[in-house]
Parts: sequence; structure tokens; C-alpha cells
Amino acid sequence: MSKSHDLFIAAQKHIPGGVNSPVRAFRGVGGDPVFFKAAKGAYLIDADDKQYIDYVGSWGPAILGHAHPEVIEAVQKKAVDGLSFGAPTEIETTMADKVCELIPSMDMVRMVSSGTEATMTAIRLARGYTGRDKIVKFEGCYHGHSDSLLVKAGSGMLTLGEPSSPGVPAALAELTITLTHNDAEQVKQVFAEIGSEVACIIVEPVAGNMNCIPPEAGFLETLREVCDQYGTVLIFDEVMCGFRVGLQGAQGRFNVIPDITTFGKVIGGGMPVGAFGGKRAIMERIAPLGPIYQAGTLSGNPIAMAAGLKTLELIQADGFFENLEARTKQLVDGLQAAADKHGIAFTTNQVGGMFGFFFNTEKNISRFVQVAKGDMEQFKAFYHGMLQEGIYLAPSAYEAGFVSSKHTSADIEATIAAADRVMAKL
Ligand code: PMP
Repeated sequence: MSKSHDLFIAAQKHIPGGVNSPVRAFRGVGGDPVFFKAAKGAYLIDADDKQYIDYVGSWGPAILGHAHPEVIEAVQKKAVDGLSFGAPTEIETTMADKVCELIPSMDMVRMVSSGTEATMTAIRLARGYTGRDKIVKFEGCYHGHSDSLLVKAGSGMLTLGEPSSPGVPAALAELTITLTHNDAEQVKQVFAEIGSEVACIIVEPVAGNMNCIPPEAGFLETLREVCDQYGTVLIFDEVMCGFRVGLQGAQGRFNVIPDITTFGKVIGGGMPVGAFGGKRAIMERIAPLGPIYQAGTLSGNPIAMAAGLKTLELIQADGFFENLEARTKQLVDGLQAAADKHGIAFTTNQVGGMFGFFFNTEKNISRFVQVAKGDMEQFKAFYHGMLQEGIYLAPSAYEAGFVSSKHTSADIEATIAAADRVMAKL
């Protein structure tokens, strides 16, 4: 038996399901999760010393590859000065300035410790600012695990087949209106009825928690229009796609400007970081300037800021996103060619350094209903075949994949060759 198996058994004694976040338990693909002990560049090393080419990248943060020497150095240098002060430090201002410089819609930003905190606060802020209680989200989008947002959510909730969670008070869930993602007409109809009661629309502008789903033409523009018309706050949840589909995130790529944006993942460079920010008039309502409350013992933690700031600096290099996108395209094109060769119904999506693949008879997948029609058995067989081959993919058909700047052309070719061998046996 593998060390991972032994470690998983041991973990289950005192950790629910043996994991600190559900998708890690491999319920989406079956079998034991792999336990890792190290990661470097594009590679992961498991507890049995087997090496994998990694396409999870810690679910997005590892855009520079794992343990990038400059990020590690920034963290080490900062750590010797103390781990946390619970008081202002200069690097928080440097980080805020950098985020506002890079993201056109950001006048002000506040740092938190996770994506969940960022989105939870963003909707509180929208509710406080508008004086309205209802919020609109989309089926299959995941915005972290705060109560109002765990309604028809994506990611692990889809993987486990329970898109709404017990423990969320019905009185709160009733205020979350869930619409069909990418259906602009439905948004218009619903807003014609109740638009003036809706505090915010929250959306993943590139969805990555029901596999990878780009916005249909006009969808984001429609959200902007209805929000303007009804005085509703538009929140782009760019926790996943921010600093991933381009330096200016999805808003820069699709040229639609939200009122509030949330970040996580890349902005922390692998450390626990989230952020929310946007228009000055809205952000000035947050305490201590305004009455809407939010706080955090470790918010703006100096070590986390050091990792995030160095990461944001390095992704500003000339050609960074062009190269990332080209590598990712090489991957999805190669996977598609392998599937075509073996006569497998298969299709892919890609936005920048984010991708998805589907064992599905449909092409051009842009709706949740299409994703749900995928062949899960084929996905699982492919998943385990690839794992054997030393390719680590997201252990769920409802998650996006990520390429890093450390993935070489040779890594991608090796991945495609592995897929070819695995698909030959499907
Ligand atoms: N929003 C989106 C779009 C996400 O993908 C995630 C996490 N995958 C979150 C929010 C929640 O972030 P965290 O896990 O850091 O709380």
C-alpha cells in the first residue's frame, strides 16, 4: 500500500473526512487522495516520492509555479521581522497601491485572509450600501462558503451532489435569488420584476467552479446595464480568474467594469489572502469610515503581503500572460487531438491560463446544464489513468484547471502523450 493511503487513514481519525477542504477527499473521482510533501515549479512530489506534472496549482495561486525562488525569498526576509503585528504596516499600503494600479475599477481595496471573507464582505457591503436585502447569484458559480452564497453553488458542492447546504437558515437562503448562468434574457426579466429590491449581482466573470465556462457574448454587459438601471451593485468575483486570465483580470479582458471586485488565490501567491475593493463611494461605507463592519486579526498579514506582492510584480513581466495563454492552448489543443484520434466525445474551454475539458457529446459548452450532461464514468477513468501516468488534474469534473509559467513545452507534450495512452484504453 502507498504512504498516501496510510496517511489518509491516519488523517481520518481526527479530521472530518481526512481533509480540511472537501474536494481534496477525491469523492469526485473515487479512491484515495494523494498526499504531497513538496512542490517545485510545475511539479508535485507525493509522500511516496512520485513526481507529477501539476495542473491544479493549489487551485490557482501557483501561477508562477510552486516555490518560486523570489517569492520564497520575499517570505523568508519578511518572516524574520515578525509574523504578525495586528497593527498597520507599510507593505499593506504598497499592496493596496499595486492592486489599485493594476485594476482599473479599484479606487480602494481592503485585504482579508480568504476568498470567502472577500465575497462575504462584498455582499454585506452591497446590502449596507443599497439598503436592500436580496442578492442575485448564478447556478454553478461558487463564491466561498458564507451562508448567503451556499445556495445552488458550484465546486465541492456540485462534486458532492449537494448544491445547497443544511445549516443555512431558510430565511437567509430566501434572499438569494439564483439565476441561470449566461442567460442574459432571464436576468432582464427578473430585474424587470424585482430589480429595485436587489442589492447586488455577484458573478464569476469567468466561471471556474462548474468546470471552466467563459461568459457568453453580451452576458457581462447585460449585468452591467441592469445594475446601472436599477441601482444594483455589480460584484465580479475574480478570486479565481483575477490575475489569471490577464493582468487586469476578467474585467480587463472583457472590458466590463464592476462596482466591487473580489480577489484571492494569485493575490496571495500561495499564502492565505483575499481582497475586496472598488468604487470609492462604496468602499467609504466600510468601518471605520462608515458603519458597515468588517475586520480581521490577520488581515494584511506582512508575510502574506510579501508573497502576494512579489507574485503581482513577477506577473507584470512583458509577455507573461501571452506565454501562459499559449502554453495553455498547446495543452487543450493536444488533449483535443488525442481525444479525436481515439474517437472520444470530448471538448475543451480555455480563457488565458485557465482551462476545462469535458467528456461530453456537446461542443461549445457555456451552460451549466451542458456540463451536467458529461460522462462522469469516462472522466473518472481518464482521471485515474492520468494520475498513474504522473499527471495531477483537479479531482472533480466541476473544477477548472490551471497552467503555470513554469510549465515547459516539454511538460505539455508529456501530458498530451500520457493522455493519448490513457484515452487509447478508455
Ligand atoms: N470565489 C471563487 C470564484 C472561488 O473560486 C473561491 C475558491 N475556489 C472562492 C470564492 C472562495 O475562496 P476561499 O477558498 O479562499 O475561501
